[in-house]
Amino acid sequence: MQVFKFGGASIKDAAAIKNVASILERYRDQSLVIVVSAMGKTTNALEAVVAAHAKQTGEAQKLFEALQEQHYALMRELFEPNDEAFSVVNDTFVEADWMLEEKPDDNYDYVYDQIVCVGELVSSKIVAAYLNKIGLRTHWLDARDVVATDNTYREGWVNWDNTRPNAQKVVQPLLNQGGFVLTQGFIGSTSENFTTTLGREGSDYSVAIFSFCLDAESMTIWKDVPGVLNADPRLFENTVKLDRLSYREAIEMTYYGAQVIHPKTIKPLQNKSIPLYVKSFLDPGAPGTEISSDTEDTYPPIIVVEKNQALLHIITTDYSFVAEQHIARLFADLAELRIFVNMMQNTAISFTICVPNVPDRLEKFVKGISDEFRVKREDGLELITVRHYNEETVANLKKGMIVLFEERIRNTLQMVVRNVPAVERRAVELERAKG
Ligand code: ADP
Ligand code: ASP
Ligand code: MG
Repeated sequence: MQVFKFGGASIKDAAAIKNVASILERYRDQSLVIVVSAMGKTTNALEAVVAAHAKQTGEAQKLFEALQEQHYALMRELFEPNDEAFSVVNDTFVEADWMLEEKPDDNYDYVYDQIVCVGELVSSKIVAAYLNKIGLRTHWLDARDVVATDNTYREGWVNWDNTRPNAQKVVQPLLNQGGFVLTQGFIGSTSENFTTTLGREGSDYSVAIFSFCLDAESMTIWKDVPGVLNADPRLFENTVKLDRLSYREAIEMTYYGAQVIHPKTIKPLQNKSIPLYVKSFLDPGAPGTEISSDTEDTYPPIIVVEKNQALLHIITTDYSFVAEQHIARLFADLAELRIFVNMMQNTAISFTICVPNVPDRLEKFVKGISDEFRVKREDGLELITVRHYNEETVANLKKGMIVLFEERIRNTLQMVVRNVPAVERRAVELERAKG
């Protein structure tokens, strides 16, 4: 049994869905679980609906209607006007509509999950209906009947003890009937049957959950790139495809923010030695990247850029040394607010951390520690991580950048950088010329 994932880009319009169907045609008689994301940028659009609903700007309904119309327009290219798929999709939208008609609940994250899940629910219904229509027998499955989580809305933690038996009980019988099983990424359910989401870009993780629980032979994620490259092709030219990666290398890359795979994806696969293939839905015959085993290969420099970082310089107000009890307190507050520390360093009376810039959480953190610490915050920074670095790559990366903070540990170099503003950059160049 294999598990496939098709992300938003692979099903963004009718032509893309037809392309996915043509890939699946090759696997017609195989035992396959398929996980899909919401179409294109649907999740962003639904986030805007939720935000408008919370602020009661009166825009929510209009935004939601526009999104529904986009889905129906796509469906008109795939189905006859009287196809029952239209009423199936309409019923799903109506459920979210009810929620939008109510006054916003105080718990924003809870409302978010109940509405944003609609993206995956409708995309999966459309793709499943289309596959059945063209003769690829497909059972639609509600992922919330399998993926059990706690009630941390927008970042549900998987309850493996419940998810594993659910998968065996619900998915296996469908596979035994023959045909594909198609379900949603990104969503799960609490023990009270409220919907949770697993964090943005969480569909890759969903596929790993299904692969783990069903002891899949392999997992494949179909992307718009030829495989895992040594840097994001949107940011760098001359990237190279990595044919093979160890789990270790993949987990390090994704942890530092390589967006091609969600960081939580690798662990469940490594734990059961399930190989992960990253392949191109634009060139399905090409081999892509294989992530498997723990034998380390030699790698070219691998660059990961995480944007939108902030540096917090935390200083004790009474000039006491930063000691273990301070650090313990700071980390307790950071964990409570789910602020993830990417880099850290301390001096006698200061402690500096690089964290993703989530303004409301950082403001709460700074306020919460103000009895003992004062904080200087710098925004608009990038964290650049280079695995297997060499000096030439590092020198190139530093061009036009001010490096605020740098660290080298074995084969990993990390730096927090700011773009050099034009004037300052000229000064730097003059300096170099003189020297
Ligand atoms: P999905 O459609 O499955 O959600 P994503 O858009 O999340 O796919 O991931 C694919 C994108 O990840 C690519 O289009 C590419 O721009 C980006 N990306 C970032 N880093 C890398 C990398 N190292 N290798 C390949 N793609 C990368
Ligand atoms: N649709 C969700 C998102 O855009 C999950 C995913 O695509 O991975 O974040
Ligand atoms: Mg994604």
